[in-house]
Amino acid sequence: LPTILGEMQDGMFERARAFRDEHTHPIDGRAAFDAFFTPKNAERPEAHGGFAMSHWCGNAACEAELKDRLKVTIRCVPFDSPKEDGACVVCGEKSHHRVLFAKSY
Ligand SMILES: [Zn+2]
Repeated sequence: LPTILGEMQDGMFERARAFRDEHTHPIDGRAAFDAFFTPKNAERPEAHGGFAMSHWCGNAACEAELKDRLKVTIRCVPFDSPKEDGACVVCGEKSHHRVLFAKSY
């Protein structure tokens, strides 16, 4: 029984990991970020199920602007993401790591 349960757990974990990876995209630049989170149909906005790994300068004002403008919030600041220099998707200031963004409803 422990072997069967272990195999089931491994299978569920791998499915969840594949789903997460399939729906998580590295996005750079404000235009690409806005396009990713802007609904294609403005009258009947479709549900958006994707995540963006993008640069953020650490400024709460940038986070607040995204929430107001696109209903997008930071979901996770990964401990293990590699140090990587880039530009904040809101203000363009220096950023040293990517964080995970998603849209809220
Ligand atoms: Zn910023």
